[in-house]
Amino acid sequence: MKRISIFGATGSIGQSTIDLIKRDQANYDVVALTGGRNIAQLADDAKCLNAQIAVTCYDDELPALRDALAGTGIECAAGTQAVIDAADRPVDWVMSSIVGAAGLTPGLNALKQGATLALANKESLVTAGPLLMQTARDHNATILPVDSEHSAVFQGLVGEDQAAVERVIITASGGAFRDWPLADLAGATVEQASAHPNWDMGQRITIDSASMFNKALEVIEAKEFFGFIPSQIEVVIHPESLIHAMVGFHDGALMAHVGAPDMRHAIGYALHWPDRKHLPVDRLDFSKISQMTFRAPDADRYPALPLAWRVMETGGLSGAVFNAAKERALDGFIDSQIGFLDMARVVEKTLDRVDIGTDGRNAPADLDTIMAADAEARAKATEIMKAVV
Ligand code: NAD
Ligand code: MG
Repeated sequence: MKRISIFGATGSIGQSTIDLIKRDQANYDVVALTGGRNIAQLADDAKCLNAQIAVTCYDDELPALRDALAGTGIECAAGTQAVIDAADRPVDWVMSSIVGAAGLTPGLNALKQGATLALANKESLVTAGPLLMQTARDHNATILPVDSEHSAVFQGLVGEDQAAVERVIITASGGAFRDWPLADLAGATVEQASAHPNWDMGQRITIDSASMFNKALEVIEAKEFFGFIPSQIEVVIHPESLIHAMVGFHDGALMAHVGAPDMRHAIGYALHWPDRKHLPVDRLDFSKISQMTFRAPDADRYPALPLAWRVMETGGLSGAVFNAAKERALDGFIDSQIGFLDMARVVEKTLDRVDIGTDGRNAPADLDTIMAADAEARAKATEIMKAVV
């Protein structure tokens, strides 16, 4: 029996993970499930999977969670600290699928007790890559990528010498506005940005796909996880989302990972790694795929993307600042405080204005220092947003 916990169980990745677990329930002992305000979903899944504990990150949802789980013997808890504490419970495998930097501390705690961390929460690698990787090494824990592009690169590297890698090409769908006239982007609404052409995901990552902040995060994630240097990483728009990433070697060979756009592949790969097991994803029929197309991302349409290289070159706390400013700018866009294109402006200005100590640029900063940079960036981005409108 594999003991598992799922952080962010009620979200898109969490639900896809639960779908896989439910198909093979006898092999899993579910310890903790965490969620937010979707108490009915959280309680249903906790009951169905017979979890030890269900946790909502919102204090005021505790009575509802208690009611929903009354008489089941399943423990319940609420609040940010309760989510973090749930990660102290020993397990073999943890799905890290909280959205945003809130996923960082639970992920670190899971690593500290030696669990394998299946990492969908890319924000934790962007915010604290060196700390996360060092914590895994210190505790003999494993991190497995769940982002589809990074899972694809990881699979492309199996059996290869990473020193033979020349480049990696991460594909991007181009998001909701890839074919819009540029002049219309400034007026794009939240609803329009929340409709992804290929992937069914949470709202925040869907909007980040339209702006390509998601791809910028993924570029940084690739550097932090695999140790690639910034000039080795390329992004290409591939509207069909069939190739997830390519690894290019010194001999000119390219290994492409091809598959249907269904996150259950990357989640299932991390769940069964190092084995491969049957997964319920569509099999591609190449006789019906008429074409795969590619084009370069253009900086006028996607001003967020080049910021990733600035962050990687700067190092230090710039990843924490970049992610936190992005989270605030996204809040601002969702709350109609700023326009779609203002998000990149706010993040760029925040990077200009927060003092990013670059001493020991790529040495792991401690969690307190990282959280202080995150808080300062959020405050600065909030201030900048007021000036933008
Ligand atoms: P989602 O919005 O659907 O779900 C987010 C989950 O996190 C929910 O369970 C929510 O209750 C919980 N949560 C939100 N804020 C929280 C907080 N402050 N504290 C504790 N819990 C909180 O998001 P998603 O699309 O499932 O994405 C989750 C993560 O996976 C993100 O980091 C995203 O970038 C990454 N990811 C998602 C996909 C995808 O296909 N959805 C693909 C690759 C990577
Ligand atoms: Mg991705």
